[in-house]
Amino acid sequence: MKTILITGGSRGIGRSAAVLAGARGWSVAVNYVGNEAAAEATADAVRGAGGRAIAVRGDVSVEADVLAMFDAAERELGKLDGVVVNAGIVAPPRKLAEMDAARLRRMFEINVLGAYFCAREAARRLGRAHHRSGGAVVLISSMAAQLGAPFEYVDYAGSKGAIDTLTVGLSKELGPEGVRVNAIRPGLIETEIHASGGTPDRATRLGVTTPLGRSGQPDEVGEAIVWLLSDAASYVSGTIVNVSGGR
Ligand code: NAP
Repeated sequence: MKTILITGGSRGIGRSAAVLAGARGWSVAVNYVGNEAAAEATADAVRGAGGRAIAVRGDVSVEADVLAMFDAAERELGKLDGVVVNAGIVAPPRKLAEMDAARLRRMFEINVLGAYFCAREAARRLGRAHHRSGGAVVLISSMAAQLGAPFEYVDYAGSKGAIDTLTVGLSKELGPEGVRVNAIRPGLIETEIHASGGTPDRATRLGVTTPLGRSGQPDEVGEAIVWLLSDAASYVSGTIVNVSGGR
């Protein structure tokens, strides 16, 4: 039985990981930023699957929110064993030459600074110095980090490149404390993130061009997240797993 916090756990990939963790009997803090109804529905689904859950609001790009959400998770559910750094955004497809400063700032504040705040808080709370058994961190990158996402969102791609690099460095910092740090690069997954960027059919449309010939489902990423958190992955650290249908 584990206690975990998932940033952006209310919808999409984070929701899937939360419910799969619930099915293992784990306790899950489901973070969200604006969609309280979705977060409460996910928490209900975690409980329905057999776990414990709370929904906790917090903007990952706001340091005070991050500290408060980790505090709330540990107060309500107990010491954390795992953290999934998952919350992220995209923006409408455009060339870099057409991206304004507000868009770039928001992209890096949420996807990079937000991930660093959450990973830092995980580093402070997991590990043998703070906890008897160490723990695990899973960061959600993207295949865009390797593909570059030209003409769509090189800003997003770069923000995920930062996640890959953080995974490598943090795994080396935290390994001696018994904390495993890994990442996943999802490919084209059927979630609402594509609609939020103005291209709701993107995963379906481009999924047929991948080697497996289809888009992926959130549970196909959620399974990898839960495995990396679990003791079955006890010797896996510093790894970035592509869950992309071969893209
Ligand atoms: P999604 O369906 O759009 O869900 C996004 C989640 O993040 C929601 O729970 C949302 O909360 C939360 N969120 C957004 N901004 C936040 C903030 N500032 N602070 C806290 N929470 C915030 O997205 P998804 O497709 O599941 O994506 C999850 C992760 O996978 C992201 O990092 C994304 O970049 C990555 N990824 C996705 C794909 C894909 O094809 N779907 C591919 C590669 C990588 P609310 O419900 O409150 O809005």
